[in-house]
Amino acid sequence: MTGIFNWSENHRFRAVEILRPISVDSVRQAVAASPRIHAAGARHSFNDSADGPGAMIDLGDIPAECIIDADRATVTASAACSYGALALRLEAAGWALENMASLPHITLAGAISTGTHGSGDAVGTLSSAVAGLDLVTATGDLVALRRGDADFDGMVVGLGALGVVVRVMLDIVPSYRLRQDAFQGLAWPENAAEFDRVMGAGKSVSLFTAWSGATLDRWWVKTRIAEGAPDVAPDVGAALAQFPFLGAPADRLRRLTAFGVAGPWCDRLPHGRIEFVQVRHLQSEILVPRARVIEAIGMLRAIGGRIDPHLLVTEIRSMAADALWLSPAQGRDTVGIHFSWNERDPATVGALCQAIEALLMPLGGRPHWGKILLAPAERLAPLYPRMEDFRRLAARVDPGGKFRNGFIDRHVFG
Ligand SMILES: Cc1cc2nc3c(=O)[nH]c(=O)nc-3n(C[C@H](O)[C@H](O)[C@H](O)COP(=O)(O)OP(=O)(O)OC[C@H]3O[C@@H](n4cnc5c(N)ncnc54)[C@H](O)[C@@H]3O)c2cc1C
Repeated sequence: MTGIFNWSENHRFRAVEILRPISVDSVRQAVAASPRIHAAGARHSFNDSADGPGAMIDLGDIPAECIIDADRATVTASAACSYGALALRLEAAGWALENMASLPHITLAGAISTGTHGSGDAVGTLSSAVAGLDLVTATGDLVALRRGDADFDGMVVGLGALGVVVRVMLDIVPSYRLRQDAFQGLAWPENAAEFDRVMGAGKSVSLFTAWSGATLDRWWVKTRIAEGAPDVAPDVGAALAQFPFLGAPADRLRRLTAFGVAGPWCDRLPHGRIEFVQVRHLQSEILVPRARVIEAIGMLRAIGGRIDPHLLVTEIRSMAADALWLSPAQGRDTVGIHFSWNERDPATVGALCQAIEALLMPLGGRPHWGKILLAPAERLAPLYPRMEDFRRLAARVDPGGKFRNGFIDRHVFG
C-alpha cells in the first residue's frame, strides 16, 4: 500500500509500490520487468483510474523536455509536465494552446487520458489537440504514434490501459491576448438558438449556476482581443458582475485568474492560478450531446431542489466534436454539465451522482472519466460507438493485462 490519496482525498491508492524513474529508459525497464503496473499523473482524478493492483509509475522525476517545432506548430513535452508549466514555456517563446482546463496543475498525460476539456464552441477537448504520443508498451518497447496512424484515435483517451505515455505532442498557435469578464443576469436558455447565442459570446464561455433559481447565476466570457483592438468587455446584453463569485472571500478571488483586463492567454484560459491550490471538494460531470442540452437542463432544474443543498456550483461548458474513441466529445458537439459538491459524504454524493447519471445517460450523456463515475461498463458501452474497438485494441497491445486496474475492469471491460 502506498498510503497516498488522490487530490480530493476520496480514494486511497492500493498500489503496492510507487516507481519514480528518472529517464525514459528506466520507464522501459520498469514496465518490462513488472507483472502489473499502471501510470499516474498528478492524481487529480476523483476516482481510482490512476491506481492499480501492482506498481504505480509516476514520471514526475524525469527531467522536463519541451521542444517547439515552429514549422509544424507543435510542442513535444514530457508526459508529467503540468499544463501550467507548459503554458509558461510556450508564452515565453511566443506560442500558445487553444484550450486549457479550469485547473493548470494537471499533467499532460493525465488530462488527455481522461478526455479533459475546457470550454469553447470552436475548440475540442485537450485530447483533441494531441498530434502525437510516445508510449512505452507492455513489452517495454517505445512506440511513437502520430495523428493519422492506425489506432491513433483509440490511443489518446487511453485511461492508462494501453501503456505508459512518456511524451505528448500538442498542436500550438501563435500567442494571443485574452480578456475575461463575468456577467450576471441570464435567463435559462429555452431553445438551442438561445443556448448557442450565449455560448457563442466569446472564445470560451462558462455558465456557473445552481439549479433551483429563476435565472442562471453567472457567466464568464473569455474574449480573444486582436492586436490593436480596444480592451473592452464584449457587449453581451447583460450586466457586468462586480465579483466573479457573489460574496466570495477576497482570499478565494485571489486564487482566480484576472478579470476585466486583457492579458496573456495563459493567465486567462484556466480559471485558477497555478500558485494556489483549490479548496478540496468532490466533482462529477456528464457530457451530453449539444443537441440534447436543453432537455438536460430541464431535467436537472426539475430536481434542482434535491441537488442545490449539496452543490458548491455547476459549470456548463461547450466543446467541438472529435474522433477519439473514448472522448466525451467523440462524434458530436458536446456540452459538459459539471457539479462541484460541497458535500463529502460518499453516500450522499453517490446517490446524487447516480440520480444525475440516470437522467442524463439516456440522452447520450457520458460521465467524465476523471470524475466520480458510477455506471458500469455495460451501461457505458452503448454511449461509445468505438468502445468495442477500444477493448480489442487494449487486448491486442496488452494481452497479459499488465496495465489493467479495477477502474478499467469495472468501466471498460465489465
Ligand atoms: C480541482 C480540479 C479541477 C478540474 N478541472 C477540470 C476541468 O476544467 N475540465 C476537465 O475536463 N477536468 C477537470 N478536472 C479533472 C482532471 O482534469 C482529470 O481528472 C485529469 O485526468 C487529471 O489529470 P492528472 O494528471 O491528475 O491524472 P491522474 O488523475 O493521475 O490520472 C488520470 C488518468 O490518466 C492516466 N495517466 C496518467 N499519466 C499517464 C501516463 N504517463 N501514461 C498513461 N496514462 C496516464 C491514469 O492512468 C489515469 O487513468 C479537474 C480536477 C480537479 C481536481
